Amino acid sequence: MRRVRTRYAPSPTGPQHIGGLRTAIYCYLFAKKHGGDFILRIEDTDQNRFVPGAEEYLMESLQWAGVPPDEGQGIGGPHAPYKQSERKALYRKYADQLLESGHAYIAFDTSAELEAWRERMKTQGNPSPQYNNVTRQYLMNSTSLSADEVKSRLERGDEYTIRFKMPRNEEVKFEDSIRGWVSVNTNQLDDKVLFKSDGMPTYHLANVVDDYLMEISHVIRGEEWLPSAPLHVLLYRAFGWEDVMPNFSHLPLMLRPDGNGKLSKRDGDRLGFPVFPLNWTDPETKEKSTGFREIGFLPEAVLNFLAFCGWNPGTEQEIFSKAELIEAFTLERVSKSGARFDWNKVKWYNQQYIKTISDETIASTIAPKIAENGWKCSDAQLIKYVSLVRDRAVFINEIPEIGYYFFTDIREFDLATAQKKWKAERKDLFVKLSNQLNALEAFDAANAESLIKNFLHDNSLGMGEVMPILRIALCGTMQGPPVFDLMEWMGKEMSIKRIDHFIQMMN
Ligand code: GLU
Repeated sequence: MRRVRTRYAPSPTGPQHIGGLRTAIYCYLFAKKHGGDFILRIEDTDQNRFVPGAEEYLMESLQWAGVPPDEGQGIGGPHAPYKQSERKALYRKYADQLLESGHAYIAFDTSAELEAWRERMKTQGNPSPQYNNVTRQYLMNSTSLSADEVKSRLERGDEYTIRFKMPRNEEVKFEDSIRGWVSVNTNQLDDKVLFKSDGMPTYHLANVVDDYLMEISHVIRGEEWLPSAPLHVLLYRAFGWEDVMPNFSHLPLMLRPDGNGKLSKRDGDRLGFPVFPLNWTDPETKEKSTGFREIGFLPEAVLNFLAFCGWNPGTEQEIFSKAELIEAFTLERVSKSGARFDWNKVKWYNQQYIKTISDETIASTIAPKIAENGWKCSDAQLIKYVSLVRDRAVFINEIPEIGYYFFTDIREFDLATAQKKWKAERKDLFVKLSNQLNALEAFDAANAESLIKNFLHDNSLGMGEVMPILRIALCGTMQGPPVFDLMEWMGKEMSIKRIDHFIQMMN
C-alpha cells in the first residue's frame, strides 16, 4: 500500500483559527494512525493577503497543540522548500504542460476588460457571468483568437493568464471519505485561472502540483474546498497523475454556538470565548486577541476537545490521550454535518485534564505567580495549598487567586451569610472557643477538629451554627477548603487573629 502522507496547507492570511487547528489535528491523527507522515505546507500564492507573523503563529500553535509536522516549513524535508512563494519557479512548467496538451489556454483579458464584460452581461440578464466553456469563445484568449493574433500579442509582451479549459458536459465523480460519492457536471464549473499574469500560480495549480510532488496520499481539508475538488480531480487527469491522485476528505464546518454560521472571531468576542489557540496582536490594527494557551488551557485538553468537534469514537469514552486518539481515529467516523463549538465543554475538558496533574507540578507552575504577588510560603505549604483549592479551578492559572486569603488579608467578607448565622448573645461563646483554640499545643487539623467538635457538644451547638462563622472569619467566603485544613495551613497565630477580628467585626 502507498505510504500515508497528509498535509496541512494553510495560507498565512492571519492568525490560525481553532477550526484550522482542528484540520491539522485530523491530518496528524490520520497520518500517525497509519505510520505515515504529516507535512506542513504554506500556501502563500496570494501575496496581497500575506500577514506578517501568521506563519510563525501557525508553526507555534501546531507545536503547542502537540501535533508537530514531520516535515515542512520550519522543519525541512525531502521536498523542501515547503512554502509556495519559494517554489515559484517550478510551477510554470506544469502550466506549460497543460497548454501543450490542450487542457489549458492563454487568456489576454485584463481585469478592466473582464469587469466591463461582466457589467455588459449583467445588463443582458446574466447576473453572475462566468468565464467558462461557452463564454470563452467571446473573450480574448487562445481558443477564440487566431494563432497569429496570439503570437503577436505574446511577442508584444501583452500580459496574460493561463486558464483551465473546462471540458463540456462531462460528469466528474470522486469518492470523498466523509461525504461518499460526489458528482458534478463540468457545465457548472468555470475556466479557473491556473497561472496569473504576475508569474505566480493560483491556489488550484500550486495545490495540485505540490500534493503530487510531495506524494500526498490523503487530502483532509475544510468543507469550503469541496467546490474546488472537481477541478482538482480534472487537473490530476489532465496531468496524467490519476493513479496517484490523493484520497479526498472534506471536514464539516465548525459552527458558532448559537445558529448555523461558521464560527468566527466575532462570535468569540460577542459570547466571551477565544477562537485562536495562542494570543495574537494584529500587526496593522494592533488589536489583541486572547488565545486558549494564555487563558490557561492545557494543550492536551484542547487537542482532545478539538478532536471531538466533528468526530467521535462511537463509544461513551470522552477523555482520550493523544495515543488513544491516534488509535481510535478514522475518517469514516467524521460527521458530515457541522460541529457546534461548545465553550462549556472545552472548559470541562480542561478541568478533567487538570485533575491528572500532580499537586507538585501545579505548585511549581504557579510558584512564580505566588512570588510575583509577594506572597510567602514554603514549598511544602504551596503543595498543600494546591491540594486544598485545586478542585474549584477550571484553569491552573486561577489557582493562585482562588485561595488568595491563604497568603494575604481577606478582601471581602460574605456579611450577608454571616449576619444570618450570627447571634449577638453567642459572642462570649466564640470568644471562649477562640481561647481554647489558642491554648491548643499542637495546632493541626485533627486537633482543631476534635476540639471544636467537643466544644459544640458541650455547648449544645450544631455544626451549622458555628462552622459558617469560622469559615467566613478565616476566608471571607462560604466557598473554600475544609475549615480544619485551612486552620492547620494558616497556623495558630493567623487563625486566632482572624477569628478574633471577625468576632469584633460582627459585634
Ligand atoms: N491553502 C488552503 C487554505 O488556506 C488549503 C486548502 C487545501 O487544504 O487544499 O485552507
